Amino acid sequence: MALWVAAVALMIPASMFASELTAREGQNAISRRGNKQIITALEFEDITPEPGMLLTRARYTFDMYKAYTPQHVLSLNYSTTPSDHAFPGDTIGRYILSATLLSRALHEAEPETLKQVMAALPGMLNQEGYLGWVLPANKADETGLSNVQWANGLSEYFAWKKDPSALEMNRSVFANIILPVKEAFYYYYTPEKNDRKITWVHCTADTAQGFGIIDPATRGYALFPSRELKDEVDELIRLYSKIDRVKIQAQIHATLFLTRGLLRWYEPHGDPKHLELAKVIYDQYRNLAMTENYENYNWFGRPEWTEGCAVVDSLSVVERLWQMTGETRYLADAQLILYNALLANQKGGDFGTETCVGPKGQIFLKNKSAAPWCCSVWGGKGLARAIQSSYYLANGSLVVANFVNSTVVARLPGGELRLRQTSHYPYESEIKFEVLASASKKARELRIYIPPWIVPQSLVVTVAGKQVGRNLKDSFLVIRRGFAVGDIIQLRFQQRAGAADLLDPQRTPGHHRFMHGPLVLGVDATQEQSVPRAEELQSLGNGCYQAKSSGVTLAPLCDLSNQRDEATRAKTKSVQVLFKD
Ligand SMILES: [Zn+2]
Repeated sequence: MALWVAAVALMIPASMFASELTAREGQNAISRRGNKQIITALEFEDITPEPGMLLTRARYTFDMYKAYTPQHVLSLNYSTTPSDHAFPGDTIGRYILSATLLSRALHEAEPETLKQVMAALPGMLNQEGYLGWVLPANKADETGLSNVQWANGLSEYFAWKKDPSALEMNRSVFANIILPVKEAFYYYYTPEKNDRKITWVHCTADTAQGFGIIDPATRGYALFPSRELKDEVDELIRLYSKIDRVKIQAQIHATLFLTRGLLRWYEPHGDPKHLELAKVIYDQYRNLAMTENYENYNWFGRPEWTEGCAVVDSLSVVERLWQMTGETRYLADAQLILYNALLANQKGGDFGTETCVGPKGQIFLKNKSAAPWCCSVWGGKGLARAIQSSYYLANGSLVVANFVNSTVVARLPGGELRLRQTSHYPYESEIKFEVLASASKKARELRIYIPPWIVPQSLVVTVAGKQVGRNLKDSFLVIRRGFAVGDIIQLRFQQRAGAADLLDPQRTPGHHRFMHGPLVLGVDATQEQSVPRAEELQSLGNGCYQAKSSGVTLAPLCDLSNQRDEATRAKTKSVQVLFKD
């Protein structure tokens, strides 16, 4: 029963989430904004992931998406009669979106299941042209609004396949739900009208989740632009900004999902209030609702479990905050969230819930359950964006934001530059870039992000076998030169390793963590083990260490929680993450 309650509560937030504009749309938007620091994402097609941890993990989930039957996707969490236990369009929209983005990131053809899902949808529409039951005229039905998640999937699918049927179905969602619901929001959680003309059908205690509509509304704006839609989004953001999200214990998935929409809206319209609000929300989240392995509380003030969806959203938010602000703290958080939260939450191909490490004295990370209707079909989006976010373009430079095995085509001034990147990062500390093609011999710039766990003085850079000076500027190693085919650029460095302060020392006083570079380490144990802060550690390689006095082995959380890897996974299914000083 407890599990059922947990599952249902989790499902609620599920109803409205999305990802991002395509890179090209974002690029144009940023250029229009005239931001001094113009940072753009690369197209999926310009980055090819190569064998390594991220590709392995992305394939776990992609293979699961391919193995789904269309019936699984179309029936999960679905109903055509009003229900507060079904969210028509939610699972379907998440699947379409994640399968689309992951196919693109992996350079794979459209999965047969996705094709069949898209083919079945026109036959499932109600008389108003969307999924599930017909909503009341004022559309004030939180559960039925889950169709907006479907709009997210349709927007991304259309961006990829240019499928006219997807565009038309999406048009119906905008015309028959997203635009008509505007008036109802004046009667929602920050009511400005009190004449009782509209009464909402609330589906749960997940306060204010309806504002998640900001995400699909902004994602689809490029497809259906109008003064009416722009005014509505501006009003929704204004109404949302009045909420004290911490006080009302807002659900984190919906909060961060909506924040991604805010940032998407800031790109073309440039209202600094929107960027400021997004920054405030992320900092509130990081300070008040992030666990010691960079996962999340499910609600502000309620650390009952983590949720894979919110982890994905936190990653999306920091990736876009970095683009909008150029502040490298967001790049550091992107790696910490990826390696310790997203990859630790992944359960085979699924994603779901885990224990909240840190609050309430919880020192163990344990898998709670997969959420196939929700997190499992949102996790693919996170993996796809993690691959894409390995690189950016900024002011004519290629930015390497994370060390991920891949080839990249950078469209720089003077022509293309094609590089292959190889390493065993973050386990090892040697990175190799090989120039595969260069359209110009003119000097071009590579800016390689050096996160705070790399010891700057340890960095040794060689180009074509010769050591060169390290030009470190604002957390980046800047290499400016004419690149020639066959050039090899190598980086060697030390990563900080050992005892580390807690993310929130006040929350669990007298405790510490252990880290290797960005990797949080843990011990495969159900009973508390003693590994004091001053313990001497012996490196065993692959980010693993043996504690000298107790003999216990510390290993990366992402490996201990990798259920597909018999050699590394925690045999006790429990991982101690915090240790007494
Ligand atoms: Zn979820």
